[in-house]
Amino acid sequence: MTKIQMTTPLVEMDGDEMTRILWRMIKDELILPFVDLKTEYYDLGLKHRDETNDQVTIDAAKANMKYGVSVKCATITPNAQRVEEYNLHEMWKSPNGTIRAILDGTVFRAPIMIDPIKPVVKNWTAPITIARHAYGDVYRCQEIRVQGPGKATLTFEGADGQTVTETIFDFEGAGILQGMYNKDDSIASFARSCFNYALDMKQDLWFGAKDTISKKYDHAFKDIFQDIYDNEYKDRFEALGITYFYSLIDDIVARVIRSKGGFIWACKNYDGDVMSDMVSTAYGSLAMMTSVLVSPDGNYEYEAAHGTVTRHYYRYLEGEKTSTNPMATIFAWSGALRKRGEKDDLPELMAYADQLEQACLDTLNSGIMTKDLSLLAQGIEVTEVNSEEFLKAIRTRLEALLA
Ligand code: NAP
Ligand code: MG
Repeated sequence: MTKIQMTTPLVEMDGDEMTRILWRMIKDELILPFVDLKTEYYDLGLKHRDETNDQVTIDAAKANMKYGVSVKCATITPNAQRVEEYNLHEMWKSPNGTIRAILDGTVFRAPIMIDPIKPVVKNWTAPITIARHAYGDVYRCQEIRVQGPGKATLTFEGADGQTVTETIFDFEGAGILQGMYNKDDSIASFARSCFNYALDMKQDLWFGAKDTISKKYDHAFKDIFQDIYDNEYKDRFEALGITYFYSLIDDIVARVIRSKGGFIWACKNYDGDVMSDMVSTAYGSLAMMTSVLVSPDGNYEYEAAHGTVTRHYYRYLEGEKTSTNPMATIFAWSGALRKRGEKDDLPELMAYADQLEQACLDTLNSGIMTKDLSLLAQGIEVTEVNSEEFLKAIRTRLEALLA
């Protein structure tokens, strides 16, 4: 069989622990036999990040800007325990945070749906994609624990010498205070990433905030989205027959629950943090959640939403064949290869990505699944397998589809 050709390399970011083991297995079993894989490889494994003083993470993000598409394995974000475990020079920052800061992107997360696993919300027949603005708000705020009576004010000292002050509250006793911000630039990038992704997916875009209560803060989000939509995207949305829809966040939440799914839900930072965990759990399993970072200028970074599955890795090190679910990591590869195919006009590569995903879905729908899913499956005879057996079952189906 002649292998499918690529023209531009994919930026490959390797990672840690169990997902690093799966990474190698996925490449050997499902990609290298079929695709003449071209990648520019960056080892984001914690050991190598430490050896390079984290320069490798920055280089990988820059390569993503150069080539446009990357695929990333889950990585350890070090804490005190990891500093000891890996004897690190420093408690390096989250690679995802570093990459996001360089690419200035929005994270889109969507569940992979299969017949035997029914969403808790029974009318959700298509996936809901959460688009989370991963900048500012409560994640970059200052807080004060007020100890007793006093007056709290909010002051902005303009670089031009103009000062604006508002009274927040006259405290008669103890209380709490919080000051947070966002930037027009960042909100505009978020909006453009969402509009571009909606065009890409040919799906409606919903956005909810609380502009009736937050008349300046949330209202700015609403206005920036609407301006950008009217001036830059409206014609293209109408041509595709998709819509942009803004409403109050509480109304959006109610509509989401009543919906059939199949749209993109743009969320402010905190809303996205909370709602993505609710949505992924309601669809079934974290191991079935895909994630892609899209920058406003059209760079894509594909990954799984879950972490490095540390508990399984320690069992793997003791010689156990674990039943870790590789689905979200495989879909990171298929998503990245399909996008590479789109950018380089390689229909064969795009078709391969479709068939790889089809082979995965066929395998699961036939009842062959890893342990996390076998516990949730309904109305089907389940064969529980380890990761290796699962990948082999997918390969058999992929070979048949490609023949
Ligand atoms: P995790 O790796 O997502 O795993 C949490 C638990 O979820 C696992 O112990 C396992 O449950 C289940 N699980 C997750 N993915 C699974 C899969 N593919 N197949 C089967 N079960 C799966 O989260 P964590 O344990 O909190 O974090 C571990 C490391 O990952 C940390 O060092 C963290 O910094 C890093 N992390 C990285 C990313 C990223 O790179 N994007 C994201 C999150 C976390 P059972 O053990 O019950 O089977
Ligand atoms: Mg969260």
